[in-house]
Amino acid sequence: MNEHTFGSGHYGPYGGQYVPETLMAALAEVEQAFATYFPTQEFQRELDYYLANYVGRPTPLFRADRLSAHVGGPRIYLKREDLTHTGAHKINNTVGQILLAKRMGKRRIIAETGAGQHGVATATVCALTGVDCVVYMGEEDMQRQAVNVFKMRLLGTEVRAVSAGSRTLKDAMNEALRDWVTNVRSTHYILGTVGGPHPYPLLVREFQRVIGREAKRQILEAEGRLPDVLVACVGGGSNSLGLFYEFMAERNIRKIGVEAGGLGIASGKHAARFATGRRGVFQGAQSYVLQDDAGQINPTHSVSAGLDYASIGPEHAWLHDQNLVEYTSVDDQEALDAFLLLSRLEGIIPALESAHAVAEVLKHGATYGRDALVIINVSGRGDKDVDQARKFLGTRCGI
Ligand SMILES: *Cc1c(COP(=O)(O)O)cnc(C)c1O
Repeated sequence: MNEHTFGSGHYGPYGGQYVPETLMAALAEVEQAFATYFPTQEFQRELDYYLANYVGRPTPLFRADRLSAHVGGPRIYLKREDLTHTGAHKINNTVGQILLAKRMGKRRIIAETGAGQHGVATATVCALTGVDCVVYMGEEDMQRQAVNVFKMRLLGTEVRAVSAGSRTLKDAMNEALRDWVTNVRSTHYILGTVGGPHPYPLLVREFQRVIGREAKRQILEAEGRLPDVLVACVGGGSNSLGLFYEFMAERNIRKIGVEAGGLGIASGKHAARFATGRRGVFQGAQSYVLQDDAGQINPTHSVSAGLDYASIGPEHAWLHDQNLVEYTSVDDQEALDAFLLLSRLEGIIPALESAHAVAEVLKHGATYGRDALVIINVSGRGDKDVDQARKFLGTRCGI
């Protein structure tokens, strides 16, 4: 890739560091630490140790025969990030960042969380390494995700309720940035996706690339050739970029990112940034943003909390404009149908986020070609979503 995609913090017109001046030194410190430690053998060895023995990597690449037969075209593989410790890809990043924080001499960690998955993954690595942890979470989300709040507290993390704004993820992130300004000397901020100000989009991408690196090796071993299509859901964009990046030089491999279509694009209640978003600055970076004509952030909606966010990582914006990744969306109902179908066809209950990627293949997989090899990233497991799914699916399916 060229200089736009590595290191500078700019992805074409996107990215950057739109933060208060008081944070610039902190961002520079993180950038410096990453550049210094990440490439070293010692860091890589320690990271590999935790990924193998704590996270449970490599995760399997599973050939989904019944799903393939159902779709009636391509041969479909599932990359099983749902089998990682804590049940989603988020732990790949938090393990990496806690090792970085340790080298930076930081004794305190802060994070923001929406659905609670990143909060739990952060609380987990803080317990593992014995550092203090504060997670900011909107009051609304705390009510919706009470189990994850309890898990974080069980792990020894302090969960701070945010009552500002819509009392959801974006408000929690504002609060975390405010904390960081005040406590920058002692504190590292573990951001959960490939968004926010540089260097986070770069850092998180590099920690998630292990997904694609493994998948490449595994598909070559299983099939003797590279895949034709990669499919992943896109919230902030970390699991998708983690899968896609290793294949970026192979332009003939289709990469499909699936956004949350919510109640339908026409309803306005969705999180499909590439459907109706426009360029803007939000939470530290320039990217596509769902905003009104005055630049106010639009409320978003998705059945899956992890995809329910008004902006998207800046590198995705650039990949979109360059036509290097295709972006599409599926709605709540299609995701719920896929959630049910994957459960019944493969005995795998996916996260509702991941179900969006499955839904895309159910819709369009037959057009990929008969001999196509497809990899779907199952970014997480669905245990956290069973209550939600029961509400929507229970009566219809008689379960
Ligand atoms: C958080 C989350 C997502 C969305 O985040 P990305 O950064 O886009 O990967 C997707 N799937 C699961 C299971 C999640 O927990």
